[in-house]
Amino acid sequence: MTDPEHHRLFPNCREVHQLTMQALDRPLGPVQRLRVRAHLLICDACTNFAAQMRLLRGAMRRLGQDDADLP
Ligand SMILES: [Zn+2]
Repeated sequence: MTDPEHHRLFPNCREVHQLTMQALDRPLGPVQRLRVRAHLLICDACTNFAAQMRLLRGAMRRLGQDDADLP
């Protein structure tokens, strides 16, 4: 059961974690985002992980904006 097509469509947890971390630095491509989303549909652990990263990114972005808004 080592079908490359299947593997490409559904990345494993480790790959999703890496992509999620990567997304903090720069936006993912449309294909990468789709693969992560497909995985999140079937994996609760990565859904929680992604939610935490999203919160973290939101907090960092707010900090960045506050900083940029300073005179
Ligand atoms: Zn997962």
